[in-house]
This record gives sequence, C-alpha cells and structure tokens, in this order.
Amino acid sequence: MNDKIPLQEWAPAEVEELDLYEKREKIYTRKIEGFFQKIRQYSGWPLLLGYFVLPWLQWDDRQAVLFDLPARKFYIFGLTIWPQDLSILALLLIIAAFGLFLVTTVAGRVWCGYTCPQTVWTAIFMWIEQKVEGTRNQRIKLDKQEWSLQKLAKKSAKHGMWLWVAFSTGFTFVGYFTPVYELGWQVYSFSMPLTPLSWVVFFTLATYINAGWMREQVCRHMCPYARFQSVMFDPETLIVSYNPNRGEPRGSRKKGTQPSDLGACVDCQLCVQVCPTGIDIRDGLQYECIACALCIDACDSIMEKMNYPKGLISYTTENAIKTNTVEHGVKLLRPKVLVYSTVLCVMASVFAWRVFSIESLELNVLRDRQAVNAAVAPGMVENRYTLKIVNKNDESKLISLSLDAPEALQLVGAKQIELQPAEVVSFPVRVQAPIEQVTGLVLPIVFVISDGNRQYTHESRFIRSER
Ligand code: SF4
Ligand code: SF4
Repeated sequence: MNDKIPLQEWAPAEVEELDLYEKREKIYTRKIEGFFQKIRQYSGWPLLLGYFVLPWLQWDDRQAVLFDLPARKFYIFGLTIWPQDLSILALLLIIAAFGLFLVTTVAGRVWCGYTCPQTVWTAIFMWIEQKVEGTRNQRIKLDKQEWSLQKLAKKSAKHGMWLWVAFSTGFTFVGYFTPVYELGWQVYSFSMPLTPLSWVVFFTLATYINAGWMREQVCRHMCPYARFQSVMFDPETLIVSYNPNRGEPRGSRKKGTQPSDLGACVDCQLCVQVCPTGIDIRDGLQYECIACALCIDACDSIMEKMNYPKGLISYTTENAIKTNTVEHGVKLLRPKVLVYSTVLCVMASVFAWRVFSIESLELNVLRDRQAVNAAVAPGMVENRYTLKIVNKNDESKLISLSLDAPEALQLVGAKQIELQPAEVVSFPVRVQAPIEQVTGLVLPIVFVISDGNRQYTHESRFIRSER
C-alpha cells in the first residue's frame, strides 16, 4: 500500500506590498488677495521685523536682548535675569501657554494661521517661489519640463534666495544667545568658532528644509499643537468652515446665474488651490486646517464675481453650523474661557510681582561648622562665616558690612568690599565675643550689607562653644 502523501509544488502566494508612508504630493498654491491675506501680511511683517531687529538693539552699552547661556544670565532690556530668578522665565512660559490656550478656545487656530514661525517663513519662501518661478500654472509647467539652462537658472535663483533667508534666520537666532555684533564680525572675517558656527548651520538648514521643502508636512505630521488643540475647542470656538446648506449641490454654471437645482458652490476648486495644506474645506473640519482663511478670501472673490452673497466659506462655530445660524457672535462667557482668563490674570500678577521684587544685590551666609573657636585668644569665642554677595547691577558697588547682634559680638576684619558689575564674591568673615559675655549656647545674629541706598539682610546663628 502506497501511504505516501503526494508532494505538491509550493509557490509563495503573491503578496501585495503595502507602503506604510503616503507619498507626498507637491502642493502648488495659487496666489490670492483678500481681507484675511492682508491681515496675515500686516501681522507677519511687524513680527518678522521684531525678530530680525531685536538682537541688534543696544541698552546701557550692552545688547538689549541677550540670553547669555555660558554666563547663565539673561538680559531683556533693563531686566537682568540671574539663575536664581529663572522662575520668572518659567512664569513667562506658563503665561504664554495659557495665552495660547485662551486664544485657541476663543478664535481657534489663529496662532497657526497668522503668527506661527512655520506659517510665516513658509509664506516668505512661497512668495520668493512665486516671484522667481511665476504663477501656479507656470510652476507646474516648469517642474514638468526637462532640465534646461532657463530652468536651472530659475531653480538656482530660488534656492539661493531661500538659503539667504534661511541663513539670516539662523544667524539672527544664534544672535539672541551670542553677542550679535561679535558674531557679525566673525561671519565677515570668516573666523567664527566651531560652536556658534554649527548652530548657525543647524538653524539655517532647519529653516531651509522646513519652510522650503517640508512646509505643510510640519503642520500635518510634526507639530504636536495640531493634535491636542481639540482639547481646547468647544462648540463656540471659531473655525473656518464651508456652509454645505448654502453650497450644495455644487456645480458649474454661467456667471451671474443661479440654477434652481444647484447651491452656491460653483465647484471652481479655487479654495483647494490656495490652501497651503492642500485640503478641501468642503469635506468638513480637518486637523490639517491651520485656519489661515485663504480659502475664505478665494471663495469670497468667486462669490463676488458671481454676484452671490459672500461667506460660503467663513469663520463660524460648530453651534452656528448645527443651528444653521448665519449671523453669529463670539460668546466669551464660557467655562473654558473664564478658567483660562482667570489663570492668565493670576499668573500675570505673580509675574509682575516677581519682576518688581528682583533684588539688585543678593546676600547668602554660610556658617563654617568646622571652625568654631579656631585659633582665638583665651577667653574669646569665635565663629566663622562665608558671605556670598551677588552684585546684579551693571555698575560697581561699594558694599559696607555690619552685624545686628548682641553688643558683645563683634565683626573682625574688613567691613567694606567693592564689587565689580555682575560680580559674585565669596567673602570670609569672623565674629568674636568674650566668652563670659555670651549668654546662652546659640545666639541669633543678622548680617547686614548696604550699598548706601538699601540694606540687605541674612539671618544666621552664633554658637558658643568652650574650648
Ligand atoms: S482649509 Fe482654508 S483655512 Fe484651512 S488651511 Fe486650507 S486655506 Fe487655510
Ligand atoms: S471657492 Fe467657493 S465656489 Fe469655488 S469650489 Fe470652493 S467653495 Fe465652491
């Protein structure tokens, strides 16, 4: 009996290869003018100007805004923030975060659409692209063309200008952390040390790649804000939205006509062509939408040409869409708005109090535990201390030192010290007393320093210990 199992030819089943990453399709945006585009320009220019000019400003013979990391001191105009005052910066970050939460709750992603550096720099890079390579159709045509001298010249000019803007951005950014005039001279004389050079190169490349090549990919895949902003949204938050009740069914038609079986959308695709993230707002609210409102400008221009009322795409709210209310106002009395506003006010008050209470001198006292009664005359008791005095001023200070203690306790040694601007000194001092005049084992004492205008104190203890 043949009990062998017949072997069959085995062939692997055909496996369809799946690409886990969607291929990026280049977005060719169309230029559009309009009300919201003007707001973007008017809000973007002052911010850009501020960014590029701020590090070059001087204040009291030094850079007005300088985050001097090696010296661990931050200069912001007249304010010098020392490491011990870093809570001020932490407060500033908390205020910025809650400010962003509040603005997002009320007005949606206006930060993304109007002021985010990624949006602003991408807009600059797009503007250069349009100036060099032409309109949307010309750019599409150019990219499809075979390489020629003309194409090479245009591409080189565009990338050259992009790199120049990217370098200016990277250089300016590093100029907030390194004295910018020195940095400028180092660039001019090709003598920049390796550390600042690597940072300038890093930020230049980051700007060039993010604003020139990645663009909407940063907003879609890299920015965490796009992902968690929904937590701040509520049904009264402003969003950019298409009104399907008015627009559908969409369809083309002759100018000025309104067929009875069609809505207001003429299906011209202009709202899609101007969108920097390449989405169709008619598909509903999408996380890729950065609320730049360019589609509103585009659609309004079409509505105007068709003699239809504007606002087919508009800033609206989820509640207004649900109730089909065209006229809607911004409702501010909402729980989230009230909570964020309250936290913001509290934080701003704490911040103001911290800024105004920054001391220009700082005194710390450390008692030397090992040196009680070391090498003093018989019948005397001595304690030693180290005074750490910080001069946070930009000018030198003559400091006088005194002791607020029972009469028998005396300071021994120098009682004046000159501190250079921004100097930190450790100053050893001795306190002595005849032992029979010291009543008690531990006496509270207070060290006092004065710059002639104000006194600064620090409490310590005097320990009586018989030898
Ligand atoms: S859908 Fe409109 S608002 Fe949103 S990103 Fe595109 S153009 Fe800007
Ligand atoms: S721009 Fe306006 S009319 Fe044109 S497709 Fe978009 S929504 Fe429709």
